[in-house]
Parts: sequence; structure tokens; C-alpha cells
Amino acid sequence: MTEFTPFRRLALIGIGLIGSSIARIAAREGLAETIVCAARREETRTKALQLGIVSEAHLDPAEAVKGADCVILCTPLGAYAEVMQRVAPHLQAGAILSDVGSVKACVVRDVGPLVPEDVHFIPGHPVAGTEHSGPEAGFAELFKGRWCILTPIPGGEQAPLDRLIRFWTKAGSKVEVMEARHHDLVLAITSHLPHLIAYNIVGTADDLATVTKGEVIHYSAGGFRDFTRIAASDPTMWRDIFLNNREAVLEMLGRFSEDLALLQRAIRWGDGETLFNLFTRTRAIRRAIIDEGQDIAAPDFGRQATPKNGKANEPGKK
Ligand code: NAP
Repeated sequence: MTEFTPFRRLALIGIGLIGSSIARIAAREGLAETIVCAARREETRTKALQLGIVSEAHLDPAEAVKGADCVILCTPLGAYAEVMQRVAPHLQAGAILSDVGSVKACVVRDVGPLVPEDVHFIPGHPVAGTEHSGPEAGFAELFKGRWCILTPIPGGEQAPLDRLIRFWTKAGSKVEVMEARHHDLVLAITSHLPHLIAYNIVGTADDLATVTKGEVIHYSAGGFRDFTRIAASDPTMWRDIFLNNREAVLEMLGRFSEDLALLQRAIRWGDGETLFNLFTRTRAIRRAIIDEGQDIAAPDFGRQATPKNGKANEPGKK
């Protein structure tokens, strides 16, 4: 693969955790000559300019994409249709249009038909994040060592795909190319279902009349605390993920419920062997994740090193 040629104008539509992290790493690594953004709220645009991570911040995404040779949609999935209606007529011929959305088949389905023929549409998903939102939450190292999955449209040109692969590689990511539906199935079990379980368990604990809120918070040093971190993730983003990856999540949820029923039965009938065997198998998976460098083995007793702004980049913390 040849050297990466920086983009002349990189337009980030949405400048929250992911958009602002892209802006930071693109500036640090010289991946674009000019970096601009669009966001709905004045507060967000002002913040992005104050942080010095973009040189222009527009209310109208159409203004941001004018003359851009790379446009990346970084809003929640639910905003894509509205954004695309505005930007499509203004996309430059030959530009790359990508995104960072956590579900991919819906992006191919909904955005694909709106993309002009002379624009290279390559959906993407950096599998990296934290439970924090907004332009202040981003940091340049977010993508370091983490996967970025690209789901190009069949029949698309190779050169723009290679350029985007190099962009993400320069940003620190390991890049994988796969089919959109396959991405959604894999992420349903590795990311979406764990979030659903976290939202549910924290919600259930909050609903329990016998366990007061005070006790839940007070005794949260156990596994519950880790669930609360995940369940603090952005409600808009996660609502959109579940609405847009419905089939894959329901498929995984079905399997999960069946397996949970088996555990319930094992506990009811005192079947310690079943419990022990499963827990041994899952422990090996944890070791494999550490061996692959997706997390560290150090015990996590409250992440004392995490600064107030939440910018600690701990591998595997998503
Ligand atoms: P975020 O911090 O909440 O930022 C979202 C940005 O989108 C904000 O700048 C927001 O602007 C803008 N926006 C929201 N609705 C909009 C609309 N209707 N029109 C125009 N702009 C709008 O979100 P994020 O965590 O960066 O997530 C963005 C995308 O990344 C999502 O699609 C998500 O699936 C994907 N993703 C997230 C993570 C993660 O862990 N967070 C990881 C991988 C991928 P205002 O502030 O002005 O509203």
C-alpha cells in the first residue's frame, strides 16, 4: 500500500466523543490540511472552536461539506437521514463519504441511496469509545490499538477504500474490512447485548423496593459498578443502535435467554458442575482477550487513575 496523502478538507458532521477524537488525531498526525465540523447546538460549535480542534464550525452541514474531499458522519444514527438530505447536493465529486455509526446494515440501506454516484461511500465503525459524550470527551489516543471496521459497498472502487484504510491506520487503528450484516451480528453479541444487559440490570436494581438507591450506590464495589459504567452510555446513541440493529440483537437475545434459562435450572437443581464448567470456559475467554491486547490484566478497583474528564484510554473500556 502506498503512502497516505492527507485530505485537503476533512468535514466531521457531529463533533462529540468520536468526531472530536478524529479531529484531534487528524490534526496531530497531519491527516488533513483543514478540519471543519457541523453541529446542531451553538454550545457544541463554540466548544469545538475554543478547543482548537476545528477551524470552522457550521450549523448547516451543507456548508461544512462544501469542497471537502473526506466527509465523516459522526452523529447518532437517527440523525443520518436528515443530515444526508442536507449534504447530498453539496458533496464534492470524487469525495469519500464515511461514517462512524455503531450499526452498519442500516447505514448501507438508508444512506446508500442518497449518495451521489460520483461520491465514494464507505461506511465505517471505529470500535472504540467511552461512556462520555461531547467535544470535550474526545482524545487523540482513543483509536490506538483498537479495531476500525469498514463495510464498503460491493462494487466500490479500491483506491478510495485503500486511502480510508490508511487514514484509520495512521489514526492508530487496526483496520478490518467486512460485510455490513456480518458486522452487525458480531457487534450485537460483543457490544450491543452487553449494553442491553447493563441497562437492564441497573434498571432492575433501581426498581427493587427492597434495595434502596442508597444501598445500590453504597455497595457498588462489586460487579454491579462495572454495569453502571456501561449503563451510563449516551441514551440517544444507544436507543438508535437498538432500533437499527433490531434483528441481530433479537437473535442474540434469544440465544442469551436460552442459555440463561439453563443457568437458572442449574442453580435450582444444585448442578454445580454445569456452573463450574461454564465459569471455567468464560475465564479462558477473558485470558484470550488480554493475550490479544484488547485489555490489561491489572485488577480494576475503581480506576483511580481516571481523570475527572474521563480521558483515560484503557484498552477494552467501551
Ligand atoms: P456524542 O458525543 O453525543 O456527539 C454527537 C454529535 O452529533 C454532537 O456533536 C451533536 O451535536 C451531533 N448531532 C446530534 N444530533 C444531530 C443532528 N440531528 N444533526 C446534526 N448533528 C447532530 O456522540 P458520539 O459518542 O461521538 O457518537 C457519535 C456516533 O459514533 C454514533 O453514531 C455512535 O453510534 C458512534 N460510535 C460511538 C461510540 C461511543 O462509544 N460513544 C463508539 C463507536 C461509534 P450537538 O452537540 O450540537 O447536539
